[in-house]
Amino acid sequence: MRLTRLFFILLAFNCHGQSPTDNEPTGRAIICLTYDDAIESQLYVAIPQLDSMGLKATFFLNSIRGSTEAFGIGEPSVLGWKKAAQNGHELGNHTLFHPCPTEIGWQKEIAIESYSMDKLLREIELTNQFLNVLEEKSKIRAYAFPCNNTIVGGQDYSNKLREKKIVSYARWGGPDKTIIYNFATLNPMKVPSWLVSKGTTLHELIDFAKAVKSKGKMGVYQFHGIGSPLFTVSPTVHRQFLEYLKSNQADYWVTTFSSAMDYVTSKWKK
Ligand SMILES: [Zn+2]
Repeated sequence: MRLTRLFFILLAFNCHGQSPTDNEPTGRAIICLTYDDAIESQLYVAIPQLDSMGLKATFFLNSIRGSTEAFGIGEPSVLGWKKAAQNGHELGNHTLFHPCPTEIGWQKEIAIESYSMDKLLREIELTNQFLNVLEEKSKIRAYAFPCNNTIVGGQDYSNKLREKKIVSYARWGGPDKTIIYNFATLNPMKVPSWLVSKGTTLHELIDFAKAVKSKGKMGVYQFHGIGSPLFTVSPTVHRQFLEYLKSNQADYWVTTFSSAMDYVTSKWKK
């Protein structure tokens, strides 16, 4: 009886005496939960759910409201995102003004077609500075392409981001439910993700995680609203999915996008 118990305790810890929640997947599939556009429901629904289960995620922020009309009262989004960063969530760069192509409905004046490469890169650098002020940490940030579009002025700018070392890694969209099979061929400036569409079910969310575990190595979820507009996923479905991941930590390493990519790129150096 005692030996059986000891066996299970040993299973739960690796040879360094660390629990499976530490900074290595140790045979588990890597799962990154990412959330775009600094949507309010992420602050009020997604983050409390994540925090209640001790899970860390990545939030790609574009411009947020900076002040209130009430004298001396902090803007909830400023306070909320600061707190999220303090709690170990990652704040990533999603540009300031979120330019996207006119062909998917963007107004001409704010569309990517109104940008030069130089203007876009300056905006991304500015967003790094804004996030560094918000989080009070100086670092090069991970990036997510607005609308998963990598083209400006007819050129793919993911290469420029790499050349100029403006961002550390970049998350892209890519084909639906793309699983990362091979770290050696993964472009860190175009990491594919699954854009989770409106009304996605718990079953679909779990199925993708299971497919990553059985066939591949890493899967990146791209969420938007959790209970509020924009590719809305129900708060109940989101919470149940987190519960599934939490209760299957022996199979999944749920971590921030940058932690996952630090791990992936560290493997290349060996
Ligand atoms: Zn976006």
